[in-house]
Amino acid sequence: MPLAHAASTVPVVIDNDLCIADKGCTVCVEVCPLDVLRITDMLDGRKTAHMKYDECWYCMPCEADCPTGAVTVNIPYLLK
Ligand code: SF4
Ligand code: SF4
Repeated sequence: MPLAHAASTVPVVIDNDLCIADKGCTVCVEVCPLDVLRITDMLDGRKTAHMKYDECWYCMPCEADCPTGAVTVNIPYLLK
């Protein structure tokens, strides 16, 4: 599975200001059937979720279940 290098180009983007991984939330990581999301440390020491592997089924539970609305799944135009 290819590693996702640039967060801005992957289909699932996390708003770091809304993500509460710092408070122990791991919901999006747990609900993803492909296991492509991870919690990571940011440069300022806070934690956030991010898309580690650039694979996605666009099944949406990560966006739907995030308690703060931090997850945006960018569905490709051809799949809409
Ligand atoms: S579910 Fe939302 S708040 Fe929780 S870790 Fe994922 S992005 Fe952050
Ligand atoms: S849309 Fe589905 S496959 Fe893609 S990151 Fe979210 S839970 Fe995982």
